Amino acid sequence: MQAPPQMSGPKLTPMMAQYQAMRRSLPADVLLLYRLGDFYEMFFEDAKTAAPILNVALTKRNTVPMCGVPYHAADGYIAKLVKAGMRVAIAEQTSEPSPGKIVEREIARIISAGSVLESHLLDDQRPNYLAAVFLLGKARGLACVDHSTGEFTVAEFADQAQLDDELARLTPSELLVSDEQLSQFGGYPAAQPYDGYAFLPDPARQMLCDHFGVHSLDGFGCADAPASTAAAGAILHYLIHQLRRPCDHLRSLRVRENDRHVLIDAASQRNLDLIDSRSGKKHTLLGVLDRTKTPMGARLLRDWILHPLRDREALGVRHDFIAALLAQPFILSKCRESLQGIRDIERTVGRLSQGAGNARDLQALANSLAHIPALLEDLGSLSSPCAEIRPFPDLVEHLEASISDEPPANLKDGGMIRDGHSSELDELRALSRDGKSWIAKLQEEERQRTGIDSLKVKFNNVFGYFIEVTSSKLAMVPDDYTRKQTMANCERYITPALKEMENKVLGAEERAKKLETELFLELRQQVCTRLDELQKTAAGIAEVDVLCGLAETAQLHGHVRPVLEDSRNLAIANGRHPVLEQTLVDEKFVPNDSTFDPDDSLLQILTGPNMAGKSTYIRQVALIALMAQTGAFVPASDAVVGMVDRIFCRVGASDDLSRGQSTFMVEMNETALILNHATDRSLVILDEIGRGTATFDGLSIAWAVAEHLHDVVGCRTLFATHYHELTDLANTRPAVANFNVAVREWNDEIIFLRKILPGAADKSYGIQVARLAGLPKPIIERAKTILSHLELHSTKPEAKKQGPKAKNTRQQSLPAANQPQMDLFGEL
Ligand code: ADP
Ligand code: MG
Repeated sequence: MQAPPQMSGPKLTPMMAQYQAMRRSLPADVLLLYRLGDFYEMFFEDAKTAAPILNVALTKRNTVPMCGVPYHAADGYIAKLVKAGMRVAIAEQTSEPSPGKIVEREIARIISAGSVLESHLLDDQRPNYLAAVFLLGKARGLACVDHSTGEFTVAEFADQAQLDDELARLTPSELLVSDEQLSQFGGYPAAQPYDGYAFLPDPARQMLCDHFGVHSLDGFGCADAPASTAAAGAILHYLIHQLRRPCDHLRSLRVRENDRHVLIDAASQRNLDLIDSRSGKKHTLLGVLDRTKTPMGARLLRDWILHPLRDREALGVRHDFIAALLAQPFILSKCRESLQGIRDIERTVGRLSQGAGNARDLQALANSLAHIPALLEDLGSLSSPCAEIRPFPDLVEHLEASISDEPPANLKDGGMIRDGHSSELDELRALSRDGKSWIAKLQEEERQRTGIDSLKVKFNNVFGYFIEVTSSKLAMVPDDYTRKQTMANCERYITPALKEMENKVLGAEERAKKLETELFLELRQQVCTRLDELQKTAAGIAEVDVLCGLAETAQLHGHVRPVLEDSRNLAIANGRHPVLEQTLVDEKFVPNDSTFDPDDSLLQILTGPNMAGKSTYIRQVALIALMAQTGAFVPASDAVVGMVDRIFCRVGASDDLSRGQSTFMVEMNETALILNHATDRSLVILDEIGRGTATFDGLSIAWAVAEHLHDVVGCRTLFATHYHELTDLANTRPAVANFNVAVREWNDEIIFLRKILPGAADKSYGIQVARLAGLPKPIIERAKTILSHLELHSTKPEAKKQGPKAKNTRQQSLPAANQPQMDLFGEL
């Protein structure tokens, strides 16, 4: 918070008084950029905050700290401030400067990270959300708007963890929290307190009803969602009243129903490298699946991956469509060609409907819409799931006939409108053109008349047109020239005839530009009247684009259509890891089968040396299930997927320094979440959990977790572990099965075969792997000696050497539940 700015000294200049009044009307954390001639200036605390971010000098005038940026380069500076998390109010001059009168100014807009429209501030591959959360009774409500496209959704959650996960998926740029609930939600980095009044459920609902022009929100399916509609009302309030944004393009509210989606918590999203990975986008599921041609498609695919479906019918429609495209590759490539020409209709229409956007946007829109008839024709023979796509032949024709071929970005520059669109405009242009050619001829005529060869007719913004004569020829200047200005080596003159023509030219030019702006606004308005259809068409195109992209990926990488079931089965033949398969360079990817059977292999324990391929394999199973439920085909030769309701993926002791928690604590938190939330329909992937603590603790925890998942939850689980002791579970639990990753020893070397085989691994090959990693030879030799010594003196060395065993072989010496028998020497 900043202190209210105070001028030192008794009297404010009128300009500073105007500034202060404006500053007081804004929230304290909004920076005010105040237009002064060719600069935007900031004063007081604003200047101190902004100067280091913008890397500009902080100066002082009359003890007032200030800094400024030139207006013509303001976009870049504003972008820097917004990226640094600031909100920026722009005060523009609204009256012309005139002597003795203060220039009037108004706040034109407030730019905030969650509501930007400017394309250079947006990543076209991802949505940009402004969200609000609200707690009402036990319900946690979330509302989320993408102001650049008009997408507006709500969702309610029963517990905090689920809300956190959804926020991790959506990653909003701004998150509004009622100032009365700041203590509940203050932990979010993007959280921003907002007037608690705006969140009151009744006024908020009323505000939404008024905005959408409806009597109740039942039609949107929001009747029983008071917490999230309160949040939605607050967002609308914030956009309209604080940011002063028109919101006409927010046309409806969509409910995201959690039980329609496969829930993927934040940690699993990270561990599966769905969207981001440490090694870049190329190494993510999104990266390998994304063959979309339009930004709308790219954003939708991202959403699909983060919100897979549990609705078999809806998924069937997606799979059918991909299958149909693959059956007719010619149509697929034609569709993709048509899509190639379509740009970001969603955001273009978003900008135009906001009173932003320029003639280039209209041109881009017309270009994009012009490709729709071809796309519809290509789709014609297929039963497309996207019915809402419409062509707009009249609009395209109208825009193409109106907008010039290379329109300027600025609305005031002129040249936006094509000749022949408006006879009034054509006349004004002819007038100015004729005047200009008269002036061009004048130079030649005056040279003849005066005999001065070097005479020039020139133009500048201060004097308009003038005649310039170099100093050496001044004697030849005729009497009817009036001197206007003396320069170092020339004089400048005007004549009455020149000025008369100048008035005509400039007057016509001025009027033409004004008329062009009016015509542009009219065209923009015409587009806005079609807003609904345009938004729906854009959404339909996004869907077709995603499905065509998935079909293309399936074709390129040999993905097959999965069979979806409501069972707890999972049977994958020749499954591959969709990402690693594409990025491996030295080796060929080795496919593997996976079968989960509710009766005898629900929980699978996977052992094997480091680097054998355990982590890869267990993730590949999760990714195949997830892909099947986004509607994609999967990397396998056959796949039957009993649909899952949640996917969990945990990695033991993964570092999470950014959250400032001990790694073990993080691991246990994440594990607790699984135990509390997994159901018998979930898929759980556990990669070496229990590693971040002493061996005894770790093993005990891993053991107890496995037992619970098997006995109580009954979910499909893949557990990769180096605790060989865990393989004993197969002896006491009917649906636990052991697997290992095959390796072969050859001349004391280890060869990784990458094949998953039934049974437990025979030993851990730690020393061989250490040698592969380049540990010096004497150390390897010494380690071998120590190992054989330990094995010899260990109490139960044979435990580690029993070799692969059939999975249900019962042993006599069963460890009692919760009291695992431990043989830790072998692990050294
Ligand atoms: P682990 O978890 O057993 O230590 P990883 O799953 O991390 O092993 O795999 C180690 C490396 O082995 C991977 O980075 C990859 O290069 C290679 N790899 C794993 N699985 C396969 C496979 N099925 N085919 C080919 N290479 C694989
Ligand atoms: Mg691993």
